[in-house]
Amino acid sequence: MSIQNNLSKIKATLPQHVTLVAVSKTWPVPDLMEAYNAGQRIFGENKIQEMADKHEQMPTDIEWHMIGHVQTNKVKYMASFVTLVHGVDSLKLLAEINKQAKKNGRVIDCLLQMHIAEEDTKFGLDEAELNELLASDEFKAMENIKVTGLMGMATFTEDEARIRKEFMYLQSVFNNLAKLPTTGNQQLTTLSMGMSGDYLLAIECGSTMVRIGSSIFGHR
Ligand SMILES: *Cc1c(COP(=O)(O)O)cnc(C)c1O
Repeated sequence: MSIQNNLSKIKATLPQHVTLVAVSKTWPVPDLMEAYNAGQRIFGENKIQEMADKHEQMPTDIEWHMIGHVQTNKVKYMASFVTLVHGVDSLKLLAEINKQAKKNGRVIDCLLQMHIAEEDTKFGLDEAELNELLASDEFKAMENIKVTGLMGMATFTEDEARIRKEFMYLQSVFNNLAKLPTTGNQQLTTLSMGMSGDYLLAIECGSTMVRIGSSIFGHR
């Protein structure tokens, strides 16, 4: 199967309101260009250097999403161009993104990553930490970031009931926050959940953005 065929097969399964992020980490530029030529404009990468290199080499109408864990000292390498940072899991990281966005005269959209899986290897905030962050004066004063939603990764398991439970939990947290009034830097409209193996389930549970890699590009 070609990348183009894979893409159109996946797109046919996505409702209108769901955005597809093509996760291109580890794949070379020609593979990304095949997706680009098939109409894909949103790409997700999990390493800042790799994303910056690809950004340099590829057309300028691409939206680059950082989906991996971000080290604060590397934010500066993506601040001039990144469209959405999915994995923000601390006020410290958010402050650095705010600082670097300001230097570039930009407002950078961010998703707060919640820990929903049973493995403790996955990064993310719990509900108390999330609420604390959003309620803090430091967050409220940030003018160069905007929190546009939440992101989460389910446990890596065959147990569909388990995955559903985790996605439903994230959806409930999201729905509660989405009810809050919009402020200058907080407007929760995006729920990023679902990968190749579980994206249809994620959509059933309210996902508005899916991050799909191997079903498009092949196994890494
Ligand atoms: C790699 C990755 C994906 C895509 O995973 P696939 O199983 O290849 O679709 C999605 N989200 C994150 C955070 C990833 O690191």
